[in-house]
Amino acid sequence: MYINTIPDWIQYFLKRYTWKGPSSEAQPKVYLTFDDGPHPEITPWVLEQLEHYSAKATFFCIGKNVIEYPDVYARLIQKGHRVGNHSHTHLKGKKTKDNLYLKDVEQAQQFINSNLFRPPYGSVKRSQAKQLSAKGFEIILWTLIPGDWDSTISPQKCLENIVFHLQPGHILVLHDSEKARVNMEYVLPRLLQHCKNKGWELAMLP
Ligand SMILES: [Zn+2]
Repeated sequence: MYINTIPDWIQYFLKRYTWKGPSSEAQPKVYLTFDDGPHPEITPWVLEQLEHYSAKATFFCIGKNVIEYPDVYARLIQKGHRVGNHSHTHLKGKKTKDNLYLKDVEQAQQFINSNLFRPPYGSVKRSQAKQLSAKGFEIILWTLIPGDWDSTISPQKCLENIVFHLQPGHILVLHDSEKARVNMEYVLPRLLQHCKNKGWELAMLP
């Protein structure tokens, strides 16, 4: 199981990771992120929704998907969104030897130009994180993960998870992937409308 929201004490102990983004009362911002793309149908759909609300987001892409769908990747950038590295083959850091893990991230980096890295499954060893930081990566985790990929959660419940917890400064994770499609496609337009009603800007990570 995963945790919907990350408690403050965990964020405090794991200070080397980024859990939140900048926000102020005058300019409240929410940081929407999408993992596991690009996907040939789902990612373009997400881009349309974002454009409709003048929202920006950060897409943590998998290197091998970028190779497979270079046009979709190019569109992300052309539309003014930010990209991040989500590894080449989506390895679980805690189950992978450091040198293999680093190699996988570096391989993705040949196709993804970004200093942002999000470990797949949020799983990364301290030694791996240290080496990635030394290479100039900022490691981005999240504040809120509503479980859009989890088919045991209904789209309504997934939206509830978001609306109940979401606050300015939060980094929110959704997925432009097949697995998350049903929940994400229900949640995204409603989430965008919710933020608009609240007066929160949807921004890409700084
Ligand atoms: Zn992932």
